[in-house]
Amino acid sequence: ISKIIKDQFMKGIILRPGQILSMEDTRNIASQYGWEIELIQEDEINPFERLVESYQNAYREGTRLVQRPPVVTVMGHVDHGKTTLLDRIRKAKVAEGEIGGITQSIGAYQVEIRGKKITFIDTPGHEAFTEMRARGAQATDIVVLVVAADDGVMPQTIEAYNHAKTANVPIIVAINKIDKPNANIDLTKQQLASKLGLVPEDWGGDTVTVPVSAKTGKGVEDVLEMILLVSEVADIKCIPQGHARGIIIDSKLDKAMGPLATLVVKDGVLKVGDYVVAGSSAGRVKALINENGKRIKEAHPSDPVQIIGFDEVPDVHSIVYVVDDLDTSRALSQYSKGQLQKEKSVTNRRHVRLEEFLSM
Ligand code: GDP
Ligand code: MG
Repeated sequence: ISKIIKDQFMKGIILRPGQILSMEDTRNIASQYGWEIELIQEDEINPFERLVESYQNAYREGTRLVQRPPVVTVMGHVDHGKTTLLDRIRKAKVAEGEIGGITQSIGAYQVEIRGKKITFIDTPGHEAFTEMRARGAQATDIVVLVVAADDGVMPQTIEAYNHAKTANVPIIVAINKIDKPNANIDLTKQQLASKLGLVPEDWGGDTVTVPVSAKTGKGVEDVLEMILLVSEVADIKCIPQGHARGIIIDSKLDKAMGPLATLVVKDGVLKVGDYVVAGSSAGRVKALINENGKRIKEAHPSDPVQIIGFDEVPDVHSIVYVVDDLDTSRALSQYSKGQLQKEKSVTNRRHVRLEEFLSM
């Protein structure tokens, strides 16, 4: 610093230690040493916080909240029958006429039992679930833990259980493959109790276990009943009206349609024409597509729906917010971009902070 003061003095500029310089003067002086000045605003307001606040207030007050359908994730060890169970439920419950129309999965679907809906998320994977928890944004209300009765509790069963437990999500255990001759329901229950501390209800504990065969369909109806029962107790709520928000569970770039994102709506009503932002992607909803590939006009809480209209592919697990206009959505996405840029530059470049600069 004394060298700078001396150098400047030689040029006829008098500087004192601790003096606050204008940005222009700072840049000017820095350039003489080949340094670049970067402005870091420590007290920058995060505009997303204001968005979140309005929802938080509604939840705090509680008066506007209503029940919404449960969002369910099926987890468990590889080959224990997750996909088969999901397929079986879908086939059993989706109206015949609609099945023919399914061309591609959007990563989630909804079924209806006696007028009550349940949303199933297809394949979130374990890593996805961890991230979900990390961000405190739960896409899932209930976990169905699939354990094959011929194989018992395995490493990924334990892993899945740990995720569900940390996220504080209620667990229903589906003891699968009971049609197999070597299936051992009792041994599986024993392992659930000893390895996971999940003591089945019929053994005096409080863990709901349902014996099923995803292959024959036996017990599948019971799984659905249990999901409805558990969801009633779990008190799953939403703000039914107003600007929607949701969580992205799947996203990709489609050659013909551009960026596609599947989300589960958590609050409000998502409509075609809405301005949206998800992290650094902005856009306007050009089309909403449901799980049967049909275009719909609006989506409600717990509905899975695909959005066409983002300007870039949004990250899985980012939160989608509906905002008032395009300017707002662009400003928010710009802010996210700036934050990302900042993170990058902090890790890639050596920063000289003002404090450092002054003590040189
Ligand atoms: P995932 O890895 O958990 O998704 O498991 P899958 O659904 O792909 O099933 C793995 C294998 O187990 C497949 O060959 C299924 O046909 C078979 N499977 C799944 N459920 C059952 C069941 O209830 N009974 C029998 N016998 N086989 C099953
Ligand atoms: Mg599978």
